[in-house]
Amino acid sequence: MLDIKITKTTEPKQKPAAGQKLGFGKIFTDHMFVMNYTEGKGWHDPRIEPFHNISLSPAAMVYHYGQEMFEGLKAYKGEDGKVFLFRPDMNAKRTNNTNDRLVIPQLPVEDFVQAVSTVVDVDRDWIPTEPGTSLYIRPFIIATDEFLGVAPSKTYLFMVILSPSGAYYESGLAPVGIWIEDEYVRAVRGGIGFAKTGGNYAASLIAQQKAHDAGFSQVLWLDGVERKYIEEVGAMNIFFKIAGKVVTPALSGSILPGITRDSTIQLCKAWGYEVEERKISADELLQAQKEGTLEEVFGTGTAAVISPVGKLRFKDEVMTIGDGTTGPLSMKLYDTITGIQTGKLPDTMGWRLEVGK
Ligand SMILES: *Cc1c(COP(=O)(O)O)cnc(C)c1O
Repeated sequence: MLDIKITKTTEPKQKPAAGQKLGFGKIFTDHMFVMNYTEGKGWHDPRIEPFHNISLSPAAMVYHYGQEMFEGLKAYKGEDGKVFLFRPDMNAKRTNNTNDRLVIPQLPVEDFVQAVSTVVDVDRDWIPTEPGTSLYIRPFIIATDEFLGVAPSKTYLFMVILSPSGAYYESGLAPVGIWIEDEYVRAVRGGIGFAKTGGNYAASLIAQQKAHDAGFSQVLWLDGVERKYIEEVGAMNIFFKIAGKVVTPALSGSILPGITRDSTIQLCKAWGYEVEERKISADELLQAQKEGTLEEVFGTGTAAVISPVGKLRFKDEVMTIGDGTTGPLSMKLYDTITGIQTGKLPDTMGWRLEVGK
C-alpha cells in the first residue's frame, strides 16, 4: 500500500456547467497524482497535489529521446452516484509490459490501481454524468534525468491527470470512414508497436493528416513488412464480422493489446460467436466485400468504446460496409460494455472496480 500524502487545492476551479460541451482532453480537474523514482531508492513520495505546471531541466531526457509511456482509462459515475473504473488492473499490467520494453522501472500493479483510484476519489465531483460522458484518466511516466547521453534515465516521474470528457459521438453511434494506409507504416515486429508510448503516435501523425485531407477520420495500418495484413487503427483495434464469424488481427508484437479488444473477444465468445485472432489481409477484405460476406467492421478502444466503420478505403477502392450504418453486433457490444462501465448492467464478467469503497 502506498502512503499517499494528499494536499487539497485552496483555489478550486470552476467545474464545467451541466450540458456544456466537454470535448476530449481539454479540461483538467483540481488535482493530480505524482510519484518519483530514483535509482537505488525505488518509487517514492506518492502524493496528490493541486493540478499545476511542472518544472524540468531543458536537458530532461524525455524531451530528447522519448523515453516515456502512457495509459488511458475512464471513470464513470452511475445513477446512484457510485464511481467505477473498468478493468484498471489491465492498464497496470500493460504499463509494466510497456515499461519493460522502454527500460522504465516496474510499477507494482496494486500501486498503479491505488494511485488512480485515490486521485479519482479526490476529484469525484468532476465526473460528468450525462450519457456518454466520463472522466478520462491519463497515467504517464517520463524520464527526468538531466542528461543528453542516450541511456535509460535513473529518475522518473509517474503522474496521473484527469479530464472530464464528452460523449465521443455527440449524436449517438455514428459510423466513421477509415483510410487503409499503404505508404507509411506505424510499427514493425521487434519494435515498440505493442507499447503505449508517444513515439508510436509521433510516427502516425503524417498518415493521419493524409487521411483527414482525403476526408477520412482515421488510419488503418498495414503490417510494416509486407504492407498487406491489417494491424490496427490510430488508437483502436479493429474487428471484422465476416460470414457470421468475428475476426481480428492476432497480437503480433506490433499491435497495441487493447483492453476493449480483450473485452470484445470475451463477450463475443460468451454470446456464442466464433472468434478468430489471425492474420487478415486487405485483399481478403476486398474479396469478402465483393462476395457480400463483410457484414460489419468496428474499432475498439477506451475513447469511443466501439466505433462502427461505414466506409473503408484501400488504394482505388472505397468499400461501403453493410448499408453504411451501425451493425447489430457493434450496437450490442457498445450497449453491453458501456452498460457494465456505468453500472447500468450487472457486472457479470467481474470487470468493474468501485472507487472509494
Ligand atoms: C490505447 C490504444 C488502443 C486501445 O486500447 P484500449 O485499452 O482498448 O483503450 C489501440 N491502439 C493503440 C495504438 C492505442 O494506443
